[in-house]
Amino acid sequence: MSEPIKTLCPYCGVGCGLEVLPPAQSGKATNRDDQGRPLWQVRGDRSHPSSKGKVCVKGATVAESLDKNRLKYPMMRDSLDQEFQRVSWEQALGRITSQMQQVIQTQGADGICMYGSGQFQTEDYYIAQKLLKGCLGTNNFDANSRLCMSSAVAGYIQSFGSDGPPSCYDDLELTDCAFLIGTNTADCHPIVYNRLRMHQKKNRKVKMIVVDPRQTKAAKDADLHLAIQPGTDMDLLNGIAHLLLRWGELDTLFIDECTQGFSQFAEVIKAYPPEMVARRCGIRIDHLEQAAHYWAESSKVLSLWSMGVNQSSEGTAKVRTIINLHLMTGNIGKPGAGPFSLTGQPNAMGGREAGGLCHILPGYRVVKNPSHRQELEQAWQLAPGSINPQAGRDAWSMITGLETGDVGVLWVAATNPAVSMPDLVRTKKALLRSPFTIVQDAYYPMETASFAHVVLPAAQWGEKTGTMTNSERVVTLCPKFRSAPGEARPDWEIFAEVGRRLGFTKEFDFANSAEVYQEFVQLTQGRPCDMSGLSHGRLRQQGSIQWPCPLAEVKDPKSIALTCSTERNIPQDQEEAKGLFSNLFRAKDEPIVAKRLYTNGTFNTPDGRANFAAFHSKGLAEPIDPNYPFVLTIGRLYEHWHTMTRTGRIDKIMKKQPRPFLEIHPKDANKLGVEESMMVEVRSRRGTARFAARVTEAIIPGTVFVPMHWGALWTDDGEANLLTHPESCPISLEPELKACAVNLTPVSVENIVGGDRSQTITPNLREMSIETEVNQPESDYQMVKSLGKPAKDNSLIR
Ligand code: SF4
Repeated sequence: MSEPIKTLCPYCGVGCGLEVLPPAQSGKATNRDDQGRPLWQVRGDRSHPSSKGKVCVKGATVAESLDKNRLKYPMMRDSLDQEFQRVSWEQALGRITSQMQQVIQTQGADGICMYGSGQFQTEDYYIAQKLLKGCLGTNNFDANSRLCMSSAVAGYIQSFGSDGPPSCYDDLELTDCAFLIGTNTADCHPIVYNRLRMHQKKNRKVKMIVVDPRQTKAAKDADLHLAIQPGTDMDLLNGIAHLLLRWGELDTLFIDECTQGFSQFAEVIKAYPPEMVARRCGIRIDHLEQAAHYWAESSKVLSLWSMGVNQSSEGTAKVRTIINLHLMTGNIGKPGAGPFSLTGQPNAMGGREAGGLCHILPGYRVVKNPSHRQELEQAWQLAPGSINPQAGRDAWSMITGLETGDVGVLWVAATNPAVSMPDLVRTKKALLRSPFTIVQDAYYPMETASFAHVVLPAAQWGEKTGTMTNSERVVTLCPKFRSAPGEARPDWEIFAEVGRRLGFTKEFDFANSAEVYQEFVQLTQGRPCDMSGLSHGRLRQQGSIQWPCPLAEVKDPKSIALTCSTERNIPQDQEEAKGLFSNLFRAKDEPIVAKRLYTNGTFNTPDGRANFAAFHSKGLAEPIDPNYPFVLTIGRLYEHWHTMTRTGRIDKIMKKQPRPFLEIHPKDANKLGVEESMMVEVRSRRGTARFAARVTEAIIPGTVFVPMHWGALWTDDGEANLLTHPESCPISLEPELKACAVNLTPVSVENIVGGDRSQTITPNLREMSIETEVNQPESDYQMVKSLGKPAKDNSLIR
């Protein structure tokens, strides 16, 4: 076999196409790593419409993590102080189903929670929704997209009547002006950034504005860098809108014909004169005016944003305030223009399509809409009223549900909340109280498994067949090309098996993932995310395809049925072979015509008009004060991915970024006596962590930055989320991971342990009381804090 397998990078939402080749090929030496292990080879797929052959270091090295520290067998224990014992699938599934039945009987189905992941394939997501929201009748499914994109989802729904980014990557090469706010695109979405940067370099009239308190690579490349104070994004956006209104730089026809609510919006932005905005944001007035001029002079403005906007206690309002600028200037639904959220995870978009948050249902439906529930109950052949009309528990309320004893079973799959959730000491304490936790993952050890009663081995990328959707709505089939290690199984198969054992035999009667996908896409028919014209077979033959893709637009609808039956006729146990020969099925690559949403100015609201929204900013949930005088912002690095379950096991990446650090401005460093590489203790009201200082002018004075990747498995003291707080946007429920108040102390090793924590008294943050841990003894604090650091030596995983 020498034909490469076409698939998708499993890391970020850019969704780059990859080609994978096996370690051994005839006439060539076997590809091996420095330990002598055979390594699959990975390269960019030039035919993929989103990435055109480009990959970053994460995509290029992903195969190096495939055989390291894999969880191969189910393991169980009765209590968290015991060692795990290897068990059979029969034993593990038997215990899971009996525990779930017991909780359903005693607490009701709402005692069960599942916390999933944008690493899932769409098929995994869909089966989990059918199991929990349909068959069990609880909406307690949430995913780590809650920490990532839920503000964008809420903003799109409120402004446009539906989720769905309106733009596509071709717009990166068609825009006159790129407006990057709250996104370190060069590091976190590098291939998107490369496309934009090439366009900017080739066309000097193209402007790039970057709004970021850090001087990132993109900020250095920008025509204008607005290094605003954290939490002043909405002031800036309203300030730009104020100037556009003052100058009459509006698309009045678009406003009149396609929107509603402009008058109220105009009243609000009148209160944002440039002098006041510049002062609040900490920028020069002429820079603010320059940004507004770029907006005014460009006929095609493309806004890009990610976590810097979404992870905020007013994340939805921020998203809507970005959208306001596009609506008032008519910058939407045309080439090179539009508001464009960049998704964090490879299949966060697929999760949204499949209903993978606690308030939504498959096919861009929402839990609170009775017609949407009814449509699904009919499709799933469930009794009317089976789907709970109330939203379920979001990620953080699963943690508080553990605290109150309302959660009896917590099932965590493909994600690592013991690193990624805010206020980690409180999170870990809650996880310790869980009566029964299942952790389903590809790797072991990983931090959250330390809190599990049962761990289940999951097949990962390349070991199961399914689909993923990237930021620009392009769906790619990711075929199985190698066997899963040991007894690992695809996530959807595990969920389906539990469903059958709970009595839902016919509901989970799927021969393979192609059948799962077929059932799912039929539910999208007529919905904004219509994918009814897709199938595994069609994606295998034609390559990646962007939605909307309704069946009605397929030239020969029978071809979809034909390709489906081809997929069905390949038994599950031959999927690997099917993956290996995938290119025999693949027709000559066909160009994809990029599609934008709302090209006719009609939106998915009841009256077809987009909604303006008027907001005054409330600022940060936890502002600085004399005790906590610095803003801590956290973020990602180019090399690492999320909680390092893969990248922490890739030598090249660990050599580049071996440990976390603290970026601090020289002025602040001088005041505190901090020198380069000196350890600094960072203390918030919730916890402490320590980092080596990097003194740099690439961050504004008064703000410090640490990377978010390191968990207890990889660092003794550098967990960023020990410091963050859980206050969230009241609409999207996305926590404000991006900012909290801290103080800084340069430390020597001797005065680290057992330091005085007496000043960490927690006031209430706005209305919400964030529970403090400071009243517990120091020894308890240290014990809980260090949890999630599992023994690295376990014979079961080798
Ligand atoms: Fe993978 Fe994202 Fe890098 Fe592309 S940009 S190779 S999707 S990590």
